[in-house]
Amino acid sequence: MTAPWPPAPADHPFGIHNLPYGILTTTEDPARRIGVAIGDHVLDVSPVAQATRSDHAVLLDAPNLNPLMAAGRSVWTTVRAEITAWLTDPDYRDIVRPRLIPRRNARLHLPFEVGDYVDFYSSEHHAGNVGSIFRPGGPPLPPNWKHLPIGYHGRSGTVVVSGTDIVRPSGQRLVPGESLPAYGPCLRLDIEAEVGFVVGTGTRFGDPVPLGAFRDHVFGVCLVNDWSARDIQAWETVPLGPFLAKSFATSVSPWVVPLDALAHAWVDPPARDVDPLPYLDDRKAEPGALDLEIEVALNHHTISRPPFRTMYWTAAQQLAHMTVNGASLRTGDLYASGTVSGPRADQRGCLLELTWNGRDMIELPDGSLRTFLEDGDEVAITASAPGPDGTRVGLGEVTGRVVPTRG
Ligand code: CA
Repeated sequence: MTAPWPPAPADHPFGIHNLPYGILTTTEDPARRIGVAIGDHVLDVSPVAQATRSDHAVLLDAPNLNPLMAAGRSVWTTVRAEITAWLTDPDYRDIVRPRLIPRRNARLHLPFEVGDYVDFYSSEHHAGNVGSIFRPGGPPLPPNWKHLPIGYHGRSGTVVVSGTDIVRPSGQRLVPGESLPAYGPCLRLDIEAEVGFVVGTGTRFGDPVPLGAFRDHVFGVCLVNDWSARDIQAWETVPLGPFLAKSFATSVSPWVVPLDALAHAWVDPPARDVDPLPYLDDRKAEPGALDLEIEVALNHHTISRPPFRTMYWTAAQQLAHMTVNGASLRTGDLYASGTVSGPRADQRGCLLELTWNGRDMIELPDGSLRTFLEDGDEVAITASAPGPDGTRVGLGEVTGRVVPTRG
């Protein structure tokens, strides 16, 4: 069947104003290659770049997004304009149409080779709830929390694309009431709904990235599920933070939405009651916070709607902090926001908070009850942002199903 023209209605979440990048294969052609989502199709960009004699044909003929991401902001902007022209100018229609693949026929892969992976902890509501759960009666936030975006280095080699099954991790955990730890399958497997920022251009070893240079380095945005083994985490985490409770898997969405698609989504960050140090002071700096509306579904039932704009620390502040000591960036570095939780109980981004560490059950439409994840459970995190003229920019989804432990 011939693909429609234009390839997407104006109000489609993958409309012409979005153009997210991914990596696809098809049954007919198993070579990994760059695709751009448009409506219900994916544009196979490399043959179009070649047929139109694009200056960027070499960058677009790649098995991952890294060469394009390394090329820098002016190239990102030019390539985006070029792809927009291919999908709108009737002169290109006969070249483009045969290269539109129905999205259901495209298998999507990890879109970029992941460099370093950092995970932050930047929602005040999430950090406050976690503090209240584990340190009842004490101050909900640690004393450093409003002075710096807390984070840790995760494991980039286990970042997997949406749709990858998640094997329930095993490990050491101290079962409540016992005096010694036991080894076994995680009993409190959780999710964390987060937003990921993908680094395009790296930095020189020793150079910090100031707040204002955020757009020069960050290529785009994806969704992240930071799977978390709460019982393993509780036993191992003092004093150096999470280790095996997080490193077994981190899922990302297959589409990287370019920053240029999010031009209508910037808003002021929430008011802060502690003045940040100058390198984190964004009161006169662009950009601010991103207004993404996130939805978390467990077995196709919505359990939460976390608002990303309520995050205390922004992505630009996280990048500035992550590099303030001179730690260099590489193409493909990924940093995640931390669990996104809003002020309301139905805006919490993990089961730990939604069930208050297992105290409150979640009832699913089939009548079954959950505190933490059971084998076979499937989690989907979706999001969208404001686009031009009342449209929405879709970020797609990150999904994953829990399968039984192998250990
Ligand atoms: Ca996290």
